[in-house]
Amino acid sequence: MIGRPGKSFPLSKAQLEKVVQQYPTPFYLYDEAGIRQNARAIRQAFSCFPVFKEHYAVKALPNPFMLKILAEEGFGADCSSLPELLLAEMAGIRGEEVMFTSNETPAQEYQTALNMGAIINLDDFTHIAFLEQKARIPELISCRYNPGPLKAGNAIIGNPEEAKYGFTREQILKAFPLLRDKGARRFALHTMVASNELNPAYHIETARILFELAVELQVKTGIRLEFVNLGGGVGIPYKPEQEPLNYAYLAEGIRKAYDAIILPAGLDPLGIHTEWARVVSGPYGWLVARAIHGKHIYREYIGLDGCMADLMRPGLYGAYHHITIAGKEDAPATETYDVVGSLCENNDKFAVQRKLPKIEVGESTGDLVVIHDVGAHGRAMGFNYNGKLRCGELLLRPDGSITLIRRKETIEDYFATLPSSILKPKT
Ligand SMILES: *Cc1c(COP(=O)(O)O)cnc(C)c1O
Repeated sequence: MIGRPGKSFPLSKAQLEKVVQQYPTPFYLYDEAGIRQNARAIRQAFSCFPVFKEHYAVKALPNPFMLKILAEEGFGADCSSLPELLLAEMAGIRGEEVMFTSNETPAQEYQTALNMGAIINLDDFTHIAFLEQKARIPELISCRYNPGPLKAGNAIIGNPEEAKYGFTREQILKAFPLLRDKGARRFALHTMVASNELNPAYHIETARILFELAVELQVKTGIRLEFVNLGGGVGIPYKPEQEPLNYAYLAEGIRKAYDAIILPAGLDPLGIHTEWARVVSGPYGWLVARAIHGKHIYREYIGLDGCMADLMRPGLYGAYHHITIAGKEDAPATETYDVVGSLCENNDKFAVQRKLPKIEVGESTGDLVVIHDVGAHGRAMGFNYNGKLRCGELLLRPDGSITLIRRKETIEDYFATLPSSILKPKT
């Protein structure tokens, strides 16, 4: 690993230069060994529960190679659309390994999820009738709870009271008996109320809310839950001075709440499920681009061959992504740059007024710029505005070899949705 602890890159400059010769910039690079090690640490921390299951949220890195790696580490998938269900299937993730947490769901997607044997996680009370009408009520069913005023939200996902997701408390208490009347026999409860939250106390509190509702359900309706699903939302330290969340501390905190609430109520064993993504793969992905232009106006600008279409978090949320320059990891940060892409949008800036070492620019000789922590919600959020073609994805294998797991988009891809009549030259 090259660089400071916590903000490293798995290749030396010489190794990266070799990769770039075969795969021109920009591209995403993912570190398989790092992701596997991280997945094992998560499972180890949560082995204090009788049942733990992580369903990786496919939306964060929708590549079947990655899902396969995570499946080998014992993770399932969390899907929210038909293509995501198919990606899980492609990676060999089947049946109850798949959680289908969707909202405003079309009938066809419910039908496919049911046919695959996925666990349906209903987002709304009205979807009970919709599911029954358009498909069927399965034996195992989950409902998504929105605690509303009982829980404060955070910046990305907003306040639960204003969030569009889930059932109210009253609806949850009505929904499970109704689902039982309609034939369901196994029950689960889900919530997700935060995004990118680094404070373990926040997630422990979320678990406590679900545990208390599990007990209330048992007392009021006689329905016993098989598992609770804590959703996603565990944060990562995007800034070098931040600390990663301690898995053991989090798991032990949830275990204490379990011992205080679930054990005395006689509800042990209750499964603990999660749908984490960011914390699973985020720190193990990098966007590599070349500095091709330098511009000197009211500010100093560095122009990359990648743009916001490859990574939109900085433009969308003003999110911080750490940047290092290959071979200059330890060089003094003597310059102040705005590091930008080529989109005709002024918020296409990977970094604003960032202190960095002096950067050399040039179409084939410029410095290689490494943008950190893009292994989740990175390329997946990309788009084609301005006719920008999204970059490809490389996987660094534990033996040091590189596998292309998605090629760059081509102009043919960009035109593929046009009627063929317009593509043929009229002669
Ligand atoms: C996005 C999402 C996740 C994953 O969130 P992370 O913050 O990446 O852990 C999990 N579940 C649902 C329902 C989501 O929408």
